[in-house]
Amino acid sequence: MDSYPGKKDLSELDAVRVYSLPMRTRFRGVTVRRGVLLSGPAGWGEFCPFEDYSDSDSAPWLGAALESCFERWPEPVRDAVPVNCTVPAVGPQRAHEIAANSGCGTAKVKVAEAGQPASADVERVEAVRDALGDSGAVRVDANAAWDVDTAVLRIRELDRAARGLEYVEQPCASIAELAAVRKRVDVRIAADESIRRAEDPLRVAVADAADVAVIKAAPLGGVRRALRVAEACGLPCVVSSAVESSVGLAAQLALAGALPRLPFACGLGTISLLDGDVVTESLLPTAGRMPVPERAPEPAPALVAAATPTAETQHHWLDRLRRVHEEMAG
Ligand SMILES: [Mg+2]
Repeated sequence: MDSYPGKKDLSELDAVRVYSLPMRTRFRGVTVRRGVLLSGPAGWGEFCPFEDYSDSDSAPWLGAALESCFERWPEPVRDAVPVNCTVPAVGPQRAHEIAANSGCGTAKVKVAEAGQPASADVERVEAVRDALGDSGAVRVDANAAWDVDTAVLRIRELDRAARGLEYVEQPCASIAELAAVRKRVDVRIAADESIRRAEDPLRVAVADAADVAVIKAAPLGGVRRALRVAEACGLPCVVSSAVESSVGLAAQLALAGALPRLPFACGLGTISLLDGDVVTESLLPTAGRMPVPERAPEPAPALVAAATPTAETQHHWLDRLRRVHEEMAG
């Protein structure tokens, strides 16, 4: 692939601000989301690879942030993007409330939670179908929890409970397992955890392992690169956030806005997972849709000041930024 837009000197940036925002719900085992806000001639970008990512894993994340700072995003082909609500592993009554109050026509239901019986998933999915009605779409996400035989059994059961599932996200961990499950069930399979690098969607498609690819702009190196990856893999794509602030989320919306086809709702209504934001007008869904922005919203100085972590954490992130930039340029 060609070089990143921002194989530039970091001194060309106008501003570099480290932020730290608490999360309302634990996600990937973390309770706080951290990253760096960068400003360049084209606008703001966000560099927020997860804490456990290596410098080389983080390089595409910096590529995505610098794309936002130095380039315009590609022209969108739609003004707004439909988004799903997310129903965590809660009881059926709460699941019904979440789906009914979301304003979304699509719900993603978490299943296969450790310590819960299969019947809890069935009851939750039934409740969500009941809340959305027949016109709604119900998908489930197993986060790679099942083996092949369990997946086949559970997917059939949940497909009946949902009176038709839209798709099942990452039923098993490996690409080979996804392919094996896909041969044995009628429900579409979506690959999420299997897609973390630019090469992965192609591997998934070649292996006949999925019908849908869940993609994110940051790990694929930016909006332009993600669009090329989507085209190359040939699968319909769903854009999902990495639980960024509204600055980074804007790039994900730009990607969803520019994909030639977008047959499914995206997982971008995620600002509510954070306790706070760095902009005054957070990117939130209204009636299950989010507008496609032209550029990232500008951080509000007071909110950035309020989200500024300790000097030690700032130092850690600025050092990480410098190392990842070297890795990217190297
Ligand atoms: Mg997922």
